[in-house]
Amino acid sequence: MPPKHHDSDEVLSDDADVYSAARSGSSRRIAGGGRSTTTRRTSENGQDGATKRAADIAAKAKKTSGNAKDKGYAWEATYKRSWDAVREDAGGSLAGAVRGLLEASKRRRTLHDSAPVQRGIIRHLVLILDLSESMLEKDLRPSRFLLTLQYAREFVSEYFDQNPIGQMSILATREGVAERVTSMSGNTAEHIESLQSRKLTPKGEPSLQNALEMARSNLAHLPSANSREVLVIFGSLTTCDPGNIHDTVSTLAKDNVHVSMVCLAAEVKVCKEICKRTHGKYGVSIDEGHYRDLLFDHINPPEVEANDRRRTTNQDEDDEYDEGVDLMQMGFPARLPTNNAPTLCACHNRLKSGGYVCPRCLVKLCDVPTDCPVCGLTVVMSTHLARSYHHLFPVPNYIAIGWKQLQGAKQSACFGCAASFEPLPDTYALNSNGESNANATTNGDSTEQPANVASSGRYECPKCRHHFCLECDAFIHESLHQCPGCQ
Ligand SMILES: [Zn+2]
Ligand SMILES: [Zn+2]
Ligand SMILES: [Zn+2]
Ligand SMILES: [Zn+2]
Repeated sequence: MPPKHHDSDEVLSDDADVYSAARSGSSRRIAGGGRSTTTRRTSENGQDGATKRAADIAAKAKKTSGNAKDKGYAWEATYKRSWDAVREDAGGSLAGAVRGLLEASKRRRTLHDSAPVQRGIIRHLVLILDLSESMLEKDLRPSRFLLTLQYAREFVSEYFDQNPIGQMSILATREGVAERVTSMSGNTAEHIESLQSRKLTPKGEPSLQNALEMARSNLAHLPSANSREVLVIFGSLTTCDPGNIHDTVSTLAKDNVHVSMVCLAAEVKVCKEICKRTHGKYGVSIDEGHYRDLLFDHINPPEVEANDRRRTTNQDEDDEYDEGVDLMQMGFPARLPTNNAPTLCACHNRLKSGGYVCPRCLVKLCDVPTDCPVCGLTVVMSTHLARSYHHLFPVPNYIAIGWKQLQGAKQSACFGCAASFEPLPDTYALNSNGESNANATTNGDSTEQPANVASSGRYECPKCRHHFCLECDAFIHESLHQCPGCQ
C-alpha cells in the first residue's frame, strides 16, 4: 500500500472516514459502533501506513496495521460509547463482562518480555514534559495536563521501585524554552514533590529542540556503562525551535542517547524520526489507559545496544557480545549513625547528622545511590544491586490454563496463597470412557474469554508446573520477581 497523504485539516473535516492507530498487543475488546466498518477497511491492508510530508512538523493521522478492534484517537472522538464495550450474559447481568475486562487488563500487565537479554540496569533517564497550551486540551480526562502529572508521579515512584540504582531528571518545555524541574538524582520524594500542578502551569509553545539539547547536556558526560535515555511526553503538534532540530538529533544519536516519545495528539513525522534515529520507542496514545501503558512501557530497563548488536551478530557472534560490556567500579558506603554530631555533606554543603561515607574519598553523602561528587565513584548499597538483578533473570510468563487442559490436574489450591480454585465443571469432567463430555456440549466455553485469561482462573509456571491464581500471578511478576514454586 503506498503511503497516503493527509493534511490535518482534511482529517478534522472529514468525519466519514476514520483514521485509527493500532494498539499493539492489546487484547481489549472495543466496539466502535458505526466506526467499525471503516476501521476494518483501513486496517485490513495490514501494512504500516507511514505518513510523509515535506514540512517537518505537521500533524499526521495514522493509518496503520494491526487488528480490526481498533478505535480512534481521543481527540477524534465526539462521545464515548463505553456501553458497547461490555455485553450482558445470558442472565442479563454485567458482572461477568466487567470481571472479564478487569482480569484481562491485569493479565496484560503481568505479561512481559521474558527473554534473557543484556539490560542496562544503571539507568539515567531524563523525563521531558510538554507544558505548552496544548496540554490544556480536555480530550484526556480531566485534562491532558492533570492526567500527565498524575501518571508522571506514578511513573517516578514505579521507576525507582523497579530500578533502585537508576537516576532521573525532569525537564519541562513551555514558552519556547526548556526548564529544569529537577536535576539528575535518585531522590524519589524530590521528583514527586516537583510534579505538582501549582508549580507547573502550561503556557505558550513548546520547544522540542531546546528540551532535547538540555537533556543531552545532562547525559552526555556519563560513562558508557550507564544507559542514556530521554522520555518525552508531547501533547503539541508544533514546536518552536531556535535552529535545525535534525542537527540536535544527529548529536543525540552520536552520543548514544535513546529518545522515546509518547505523543498525546497525533503522529508527528519529526517525532517519529527522532525516535527511529536514536533507537527509542514512539507511541501515540489513544485513550487514558493506552497512554498509561505506553508510559509504563519504560519502567523496565532497555536492552543494551540491541540494535547495534543485531546489526553485527551475523559476522562474528562471540566477539560482538563482549563489546557492550564494561567493568565499572562501585563502592559500598558505610552508614553513619543518626545520633552523630552534624557534619557537612559533600552533595549539598549542609550540616546534617547521619548519612553515608564514600569508601574511596571518605566524604559524607546524604543519600545513596548516587555518584560521589568528589571522586565520581558510583556509591550503591548491595540491596539496591540485588533489587535490580531481577530484570536480568525475569520470571517466565505463566500459562493461562483453560478448563480443557485442567482435566486430571491434582492441584486444587493456589500454590502462592492457598486459596482454593473453582472445581472443574461437570461438562468437562471425564466420562467413563475417559473422554471429555465437553466435546458433546456446544463449544464448551459459552462465555467468550479474552486471550491470555484463563477460564479456570489458573496460571501455570512453565518451569515448576505449579498453579497460581491471577492475584498471585500479578504479585509475582510485578513485585516479587521470584517464582515461589521454583525455589
Ligand atoms: Zn547532601
Ligand atoms: Zn568519593
Ligand atoms: Zn494465589
Ligand atoms: Zn515456578
